[in-house]
Amino acid sequence: MLCHLPDRREQELLYSVVARCGRYLQAPEAGPFMRELLGRRWAIAGVGLPGHLATLVRDQPDHARDAAVDRLIDDATLFPFHTAFMPIEVRSQVREAMRGDVCGIYTKLGLATFKVRPPERLRFCPDCLDAMKADFGDAWWRRDHQLPGVLVCSVHGTVLRISDVDPGDGNRHSFVAASRLVCRPDADVAIGSVFYEDMVRLVELARLATALLDAPSAAMDHADRGEAYRTRLSDAGLMRSARKVDHPALFDAFLARWGGVPDLIPGLDLGDDRERSWLAAIVRTGRRGAHPLHHLMLSAMLDGVGGGRVDRPFGAGPWPCRNPAADHHGSEVIDDVVIRRDRGTLYGDFACACGYLYTVARQPDGTVGEPRFRRFGQLLAPALRSAIERGGTLRGTARALGLDPKTLMREAAIAGVTVPWNAKPSGAVTPAKGIVAETAKTTRVRRRVRPKRNWFSIDTRLARSARQAAQVVVAELPPVRVTFAEVERRIAKRDWVSKRRMKLPRTVEVLRNVVEETDGFRRRRLKWQVAEAVRTGDLRACEVLRAAGLPMSWLPTVRGAIASLRDRARMAA
Ligand SMILES: [Zn+2]
Ligand SMILES: [Zn+2]
Repeated sequence: MLCHLPDRREQELLYSVVARCGRYLQAPEAGPFMRELLGRRWAIAGVGLPGHLATLVRDQPDHARDAAVDRLIDDATLFPFHTAFMPIEVRSQVREAMRGDVCGIYTKLGLATFKVRPPERLRFCPDCLDAMKADFGDAWWRRDHQLPGVLVCSVHGTVLRISDVDPGDGNRHSFVAASRLVCRPDADVAIGSVFYEDMVRLVELARLATALLDAPSAAMDHADRGEAYRTRLSDAGLMRSARKVDHPALFDAFLARWGGVPDLIPGLDLGDDRERSWLAAIVRTGRRGAHPLHHLMLSAMLDGVGGGRVDRPFGAGPWPCRNPAADHHGSEVIDDVVIRRDRGTLYGDFACACGYLYTVARQPDGTVGEPRFRRFGQLLAPALRSAIERGGTLRGTARALGLDPKTLMREAAIAGVTVPWNAKPSGAVTPAKGIVAETAKTTRVRRRVRPKRNWFSIDTRLARSARQAAQVVVAELPPVRVTFAEVERRIAKRDWVSKRRMKLPRTVEVLRNVVEETDGFRRRRLKWQVAEAVRTGDLRACEVLRAAGLPMSWLPTVRGAIASLRDRARMAA
């Protein structure tokens, strides 16, 4: 859309788009280039809430500029996160400020006073970096990795690393693109060792925070939100009376839900005097200026309260599958854990339907260890073969499959795959009895149905088409919802991809990522309908609601959208 800027990548920060742009133009000294691009020097170096965005779209026709800036704000900045729990007026004011001068919005949002600090240096996920390099040939900064208090990648669950780039240091004006040069393999981690259960919670928090970016909920006044919290606390049995919160019960429920997480992230700790903590403050009437993570954690806790307490040594399932060769890698698809006891130590065996099995140990003192690989399952052989076809090295392939090289050699031998590498397989090559039987069976079946097609290249091609098709769907007017079926229909016969999920992991991944939530689509649809209403001059909220095909519960949101548009028109006048 923007004449000068390259296409935005998934979750890419505007800062990163500009930085890549500079890289493509081979501009080592960004000064003249940026001056040309922005009309004024270093206008948008802010990372989370950049200003002067109107300058960026000045080449566009008048009628398209507002929408273009709004798209940048919603899709390429941290605006949706920082304003997620703000009333509609504040959202409109911040949005307005980002068109021009952003001075003062940090105070307005209370960002200066929060103890949950935004990261000083840009962060990255090593797994995302690998995927970006593999799929696009170069890397970018994802905005979900830069959220204050978020320490892990919401896609991979990997601990984030701290890059060399500090956008707020002496080079405030420089735009540094993500690359292996500044995202070093030995970069510091955002957080050191963490108990497994807390790690799972950190990933969950990262996902909740990222969801705010993609699908922020309707704006609400502070007083209304306080009221809503008290209703939910009361439903959960956490109120002593109509006005008094049962603080001890609230804290117990909160810590049961979030474990050690409050102590892991500065600004989330509850302190010694709990009545004065942020948690006590947020449930008080009309609480202003709580951090988005405070709201998210309280809300998630309230969602989960209720039902009897069961002793679950490995937390509540489902648990993630850790099979790097599976399309559901990292997704919580394992519903059952088999628990064994050896003296005081508990062992949880997590077996996925894809055949992958890992074990986690829990010591008598409650310490939960790192997950240990036990068995790969039937996805190993095809993954190995395609790695060999691509000319992969032993180390590279082992890393991609989450194994050490010796274990990979052993597993390859067990699976009956001949590999072009040399290294002694670790442990005995003769596998245990049970595994032999299973492997033999798998191999037999595989021979009978071995595909003639090169699924790897079909998958790569389809994934690319899916990405393009999704962009086409998103661009359609009136807006069409991006669904799995809608995109699939445009790249293949009906159900063709769905029926070959196992063979098309990349395509399925792309389709999953582009699919639009109902609420997200409704918001998009509403935006367009309001613009239409302005064009035709009929701004009655009910009419807009009906024309956009929205349910009655959306009426306040529709009113808000119309009001904020009016305000904007007034301010522009
Ligand atoms: Zn990642
Ligand atoms: Zn699995």
